[in-house]
Amino acid sequence: MDATAERRTLPPWLKVKLPTGPNVARLKSASRSRGLATVCEEARCPNLAECWGGGTATFMIMGEVCTRGCRFCSVDTAARPPRPDPEEPAKLALTLKEMGVDYAVLTTVCRDDLPDQGAGHLAECVKTVKAENPKLKIEMLLQDFRGERTLLETVIDAGPDVVAHNVECVERLTETVRDRKAGYSQSLGVLRRAKEYAPETPTKTSLMLGLGETEDEILKAFDDIRSVGVDIITLGQYLRPTGSRHHLPVKEFVHPDDFARYGELARERGFLYVASGPFVRSSYRAAELFLKGRLEAKGAA
Ligand code: SF4
Repeated sequence: MDATAERRTLPPWLKVKLPTGPNVARLKSASRSRGLATVCEEARCPNLAECWGGGTATFMIMGEVCTRGCRFCSVDTAARPPRPDPEEPAKLALTLKEMGVDYAVLTTVCRDDLPDQGAGHLAECVKTVKAENPKLKIEMLLQDFRGERTLLETVIDAGPDVVAHNVECVERLTETVRDRKAGYSQSLGVLRRAKEYAPETPTKTSLMLGLGETEDEILKAFDDIRSVGVDIITLGQYLRPTGSRHHLPVKEFVHPDDFARYGELARERGFLYVASGPFVRSSYRAAELFLKGRLEAKGAA
């Protein structure tokens, strides 16, 4: 069954109308006019209007082509993508200023082809955006830099307010779901190092459900993720990219009641904040609201 047929079997709680409206159109043109890509549009995210309307947006930086090929992700793959646009930091800073958002998630493709895997460019983006928008909170959703600490530290030194890296799925499914350059313990290592290197900076990760994981595996993932000091976790339904045959099929549409229960089980394990629901994505408005409030309280203290 391909993704289109799969979409026809969506349960009622996953059937929604895609967002439109003048504010969405204005913000879309702001980013497109500078050749910037928002994950919100690329992933046809159902939360777009809520997030953009509420003052957050997620940008994919370093281009739209990745050197990896995870089997859940709709981003294009190539061994040698085009070089990152040296003007991107300035364009991003101006677009975020125009959009008037107060929380921005910057996510990135993997660039295993570059000597520093893009760490320098990412750091430049954070610094430039911060210089142009001093009040804006930046969440940097990072790749794993194949576990190279100095590259991770280069980006953290640029001063993102939140450091995120997605574990994506439970340990047993990692080899099936993620690119072979990715790894479960490698991702936990990135999150551990981020917390050790900048203990005051909140760390965050995300798990997709519906790929065939068991409840015990989800709970073990919670424990593994808490053991490396992660503060924030989001849980959402995996959906196969529209019209795709080669991406992984959905094994289960997890019921909202189960998401609520998993959310409770995660909270019991001491996460500062948990967002869990069919439409929750790694960058999710509610989580950002919480973080922004926390960061501002810390700033005021
Ligand atoms: S590394 Fe990230 S952007 Fe690249 S294919 Fe995997 S999930 Fe997609």
